[in-house]
Amino acid sequence: MEECLFCRIIAGNIPSNKVYEDELCYAFYDIAPMTPTHFLVVPKEHIASAAEITGENAYIVAHIYEVIAKLAAEMGFADGFRVVTNCGADAGQTVHHLHFHVLAGKQMGSFN
Ligand code: AMP
Ligand code: ZN
Repeated sequence: MEECLFCRIIAGNIPSNKVYEDELCYAFYDIAPMTPTHFLVVPKEHIASAAEITGENAYIVAHIYEVIAKLAAEMGFADGFRVVTNCGADAGQTVHHLHFHVLAGKQMGSFN
C-alpha cells in the first residue's frame, strides 16, 4: 500500500505532527483543521474505510475508540468532542484509509 497517503505517513515517509502512537494505531493533527483541535486516528493496518470493518479487524476499531477516550481525557475536552468517519463518495471520503476525525475546542452545530 505504498501509494496510500496515510500508510506513507504511518511509515514516516511523509511528515506528520504526531499526537499518539502504539502497535495498532497512529494519531496525528489534520493538515486542514476544522476546529481548534482536530486530529486523525488511523489503524496501522491498511483498512480502506468503515465499510471494510469485519469480525477479524473490529478489535482495532475498538482499540482506537479506547485511545480516543484516553486522549480526550488527557487533552481536557471537558466540554465535549466529536468523532467522525467519512465512508465513501457521498460522505466525502478523500483518503481511502480508515480514519477517525477527532474534533474539539468549539461548539459544533448539527450536520447533514
Ligand atoms: P476525509 O475527507 O474524511 O477523507 O479526511 C481526510 C483528511 O485528511 C482531511 O481532513 C485532510 O485535511 C486530511 N489530510 C490530508 N492530507 C494530510 C496530511 N498530509 N497530513 C494530515 N492530514 C491530512
Ligand atoms: Zn493505507
